[in-house]
Amino acid sequence: MRLVLIFGALFGHIYCRETFVGDQVLEIIPRNEEQVKNLVELEAEEHLQLDFWKSPTIPGEAAHVRVPFVSLQAVKIFLESQEIAYSIMIEDVQVLLDKENEEMLSNQRRDRNGYFNFGAYHTLEEISQEMDHLVAEYPGLVSKVNIGSSFENRPMNVLKFSTGGDKPAIWLDAGIHAREWVTQATALWTANKIAFDYGNEPSLTSILDTVDIFLLPVTNPDGYVFSHTKNRMWRKTRSKESGSLCIGVDPNRNWDAGFGGPGASNNPCSESYHGPRANSEIEVKSIVDFIKSHGKIKAFITLHSYSQLLMFPYGYTCTKSDNFDELDEVAQKAANSVTSLHGTKYKVGPICSVIYQASGGSIDWAYDFGIKYSFAFELRDTGRYGFLLPADQILPTAEETWLGLKTIMEHVRDHLY
Ligand SMILES: [Zn+2]
Repeated sequence: MRLVLIFGALFGHIYCRETFVGDQVLEIIPRNEEQVKNLVELEAEEHLQLDFWKSPTIPGEAAHVRVPFVSLQAVKIFLESQEIAYSIMIEDVQVLLDKENEEMLSNQRRDRNGYFNFGAYHTLEEISQEMDHLVAEYPGLVSKVNIGSSFENRPMNVLKFSTGGDKPAIWLDAGIHAREWVTQATALWTANKIAFDYGNEPSLTSILDTVDIFLLPVTNPDGYVFSHTKNRMWRKTRSKESGSLCIGVDPNRNWDAGFGGPGASNNPCSESYHGPRANSEIEVKSIVDFIKSHGKIKAFITLHSYSQLLMFPYGYTCTKSDNFDELDEVAQKAANSVTSLHGTKYKVGPICSVIYQASGGSIDWAYDFGIKYSFAFELRDTGRYGFLLPADQILPTAEETWLGLKTIMEHVRDHLY
C-alpha cells in the first residue's frame, strides 16, 4: 500500500505537467481561396485538438498549427489529399520544451556580480522579486502600483516610472497571452533599461521629464503560472464559468471594442473565446479601471508574440481610423528603429489588414477611449520557434524592441495632446 502511494506521488508529480511528445508544428501555405476554406474547416474540427498558432487568412499567407501526435496522420493525409503544401516547422514540440526547461533549471538567477540574468525565462515569483528589487534600487524613480488582483487572486503590480508631479503617461503591458514568454521577459528587461537610462541617456531622460511610464510586465499572472507549472501552451486567463467544463477567456478578445464581433469565438472551449461579456475578466477590468481613473494616459502599447508586426487600430473593423496616417508613420518609423539593430524585419499596419479582423482587443478599446497612440507589437520570431523562442534570443529581442518603443515614446513626448 505504501509503495503504491509513493509511486502514485512520484508519477503524479511527473505527469502533472502536460507533455507534447511527438507533437509537430506545421507551416501550411494555402494556394487559393478553396484551400483557405479547407483550412478554416480543419481549424473547426474540435476532435483533432489542433492549436493554431497562426490562423489561415488569405492565399499565400502561411498558417501555423501545432498538431498533437495522435492527430498527425489524419491531418497530413487531409492536407495531401487536398494538395495543400505544408512543411514541418517543429519536429517534436516536447524536445524544445525539455531544452527550455533544462535551461531554466540550470540558469542562475543572478550572476557572480549579483546582476539579474535577463537572458533567461523566469517564474512569476522571480519576476515579482526583481520588480521589488528595482523599486528598492531606484526609490526616487520607480514605484510599485497595485491595480487589482487576478481571478486566482494574484496581485497585478504595475511599475511606475516617474520624476514627480502630475504628468501625462504612457501605458505599456506584456503577457496578456500567457504563453508569449518573450514578452514578459522583454518587459522586465525594459523596466531595468528605463530605470538605468534615466539621467544617463538623453532621449529617455527627456521622455521621463515629460511623461510617466506605467509598465505591467505580467498582465495575465494566472495564465503565466499555469504555463510554467501545467501547460506551456496556455494562452487564456484561468477564470471559471458555470455551465462549461472549459477554463479561461482570451483576454485580448474581452475588451469593450466591437465585443463579440468577428475574430472572436463564443465557444468557451476555443482559444479565442471572448468571455460572457466585455470586461468579464478581472485582469482586463483592472486595467480599464486604472486607465479611466488616471485620466491622462496618452499612449497604450501592448507586447505580444510572435510574427514581428507593429500594429495599430482597428482590429474589430477594417475601416481606417481617423489618425491612420499619423499612426502609420509613427509605426513605420518605430519598425525601422527595431530593424536597425539586428536586421529583424517588421510588418506594419492596422490589425485588420496585417493579420485579420479581430474584435475585443485592447488597443482598439484604448483608441476608442481617446488614447490616440495605441500600438500592439508582435515580437520575434516569424515561426521557426514561435511561442517557444529560445532564451538566448531574449536579450536581442528586448534590445531591438526598446528602440521601437523609444521611437514611439519620443513621438508621444513631442505630440502631447
Ligand atoms: Zn498574443
